[in-house]
Amino acid sequence: MIRVLWWFVGLALVASAAAWLADRPGDIVVDWQGWRIETSVAAGAVAFAVLLAAGALAYRGWIWLRRGPRTIGRARRDNRRRRGEIALFGGMTALAAGEGDEALKLGRRAQALLGDSPLPLMLSAQAAQQAGNTLEAARLYKRMLDTPDTEFLGVRGLLVQALRSGDTQAALRHARRAQALRPASPWVQNLLFDLQSAAGLWHEAQATLEDASRRKVFDKSTGRRRKALTLFAQARDADAAGEAEKAAVLSRDAHALSPDFVPAALLAARHYQADGETGKAVRVIEASWRTSPHPELAALYLALHPGDDPARRVRRIARLDRLNAGHREGHVALAGVLIAARRWHEAHGHLDKALVGREERRLCRLMAQVEEGQHGPASAGAWLQRMSSAPPDDTWVCRGCGTPASAWSPHCEQCGRFDSLAWGAPPEPRPAAADGNGGSPAALARLSGTLPDATADPALRLPALQEEGGDIVDASPPKA
Ligand SMILES: [Zn+2]
Repeated sequence: MIRVLWWFVGLALVASAAAWLADRPGDIVVDWQGWRIETSVAAGAVAFAVLLAAGALAYRGWIWLRRGPRTIGRARRDNRRRRGEIALFGGMTALAAGEGDEALKLGRRAQALLGDSPLPLMLSAQAAQQAGNTLEAARLYKRMLDTPDTEFLGVRGLLVQALRSGDTQAALRHARRAQALRPASPWVQNLLFDLQSAAGLWHEAQATLEDASRRKVFDKSTGRRRKALTLFAQARDADAAGEAEKAAVLSRDAHALSPDFVPAALLAARHYQADGETGKAVRVIEASWRTSPHPELAALYLALHPGDDPARRVRRIARLDRLNAGHREGHVALAGVLIAARRWHEAHGHLDKALVGREERRLCRLMAQVEEGQHGPASAGAWLQRMSSAPPDDTWVCRGCGTPASAWSPHCEQCGRFDSLAWGAPPEPRPAAADGNGGSPAALARLSGTLPDATADPALRLPALQEEGGDIVDASPPKA
């Protein structure tokens, strides 16, 4: 609209100038070096305007000739980039659909069109991984290490590959580099800690833990618990190596950090006992019993006073029981010492209360002893019968895979999870496990030579990595 207005204004100006010139006639005479031009003022003005327009056109043409090749080059580059982006997008879609070969083809095209920019390189590496071409994937991941922008992604790719192939040493090396690059990443810190602890490198694991805690990667309670377990693992190693003093100090530190952690309390109390510091051993056991009653705590509590008569032993356990009144383990421990003191009726009462929670073999055995003490050997038979079909006693059970373990250990021996063992009822045995058809699914997967997946490979069972589902970097080969 404004353009049209200007156009009219311009037209009006030209018209009025023409009218003005028509009202004032005259001649223009140019006489120069033997040349003579004679014309009217109006014709002169028109010729001048034509000259100006021709000059402007020539200038435009010259500019276009100068910039032409550059403009054509840019257009061609824009076209390549557009085609590269289309290939990249197609490749990512193929990757998401699990079509590794197609993704690899498109990734290579994108690389050819876009050069060594990070995205096509990453797509090609991922696609090669998904297509099962691990050598090509490793080559591309290694190339990504050369550029700061892609270094972490390259390290991560190599780390996942190392975990998948079960190469712990390489995994540790890559995880350390990843930690140096991204120290604030919970994934990296968790994985490094898991790898170090699984390899028994407890001192290194502790350093990782402290670094992660300083950066607030773990919340406070997780940090404390992990530190307690790390200290305990070192205490246990020292104990096994005969370094009693070191074991004593480390187990006490572990117990102070996590009094509910029974293995640390037991080890610390045993070292106090060995040093003749019975009072301190008593306090350690009592502190642990307050939150985590356990049969071994009660047994050690009694063993601290070997000279006690049965009545005194009952009083000791009654005192321990009061710290966590009404707990099932308290009833079981009391029943044990009451039976030894031949106080059958009271023992029966505590066993009744314990049996409300869950029938266990040890409870049936104790009940048989009570019946035998009360009514003679013949009356124990019913409970002994019940014992044979009763569920097994409480034990350490992995919260991740449900596998029971006879002793506590930092990692589940079946699934490799860290700090997964808790005291409790073992799961009901499943028929498949009972018919002895050749071991766990993990063992079967290894034997059949299939590519390891998250449940088959111990390295991949690290919890930190299991949270990786659906991540573009962790592109695993599609399962048939
Ligand atoms: Zn497990």
